Amino acid sequence: MSKKLTDRQRYEYLQQQKEKQWEAKCRRCGACCGSIEGDPCEHLLQLDNGLFACSIYENRFGLHKTVSGREFYCVPIRNILHESWPGDECCGYKTKGIK
Ligand code: SF4
Ligand code: SF4
Repeated sequence: MSKKLTDRQRYEYLQQQKEKQWEAKCRRCGACCGSIEGDPCEHLLQLDNGLFACSIYENRFGLHKTVSGREFYCVPIRNILHESWPGDECCGYKTKGIK
């Protein structure tokens, strides 16, 4: 099999690299999911190392509830970067840029 990549494979590889770089900006502080605000999303998990993770990450977008039962929509972080939320001063997407 030839080791030469097709244009499509090269494109997909570059897209994956871009996605990894984008995801790496997140500091896993959980602030955008309510970790600082005090009524977090019911799917927000705190890990043993103190960082946060989403228990439904691959299917996270859409209508969800906080632990107190308040409904809200989870949307891509790009869509809310112009907004403010408690703890957002540490958000990697705001401090490291969005390129
Ligand atoms: S569903 Fe959305 S708001 Fe809830 S923990 Fe996951 S990423 Fe955060
Ligand atoms: S506030 Fe920013 S750095 Fe913190 S979890 Fe959300 S996207 Fe990641």
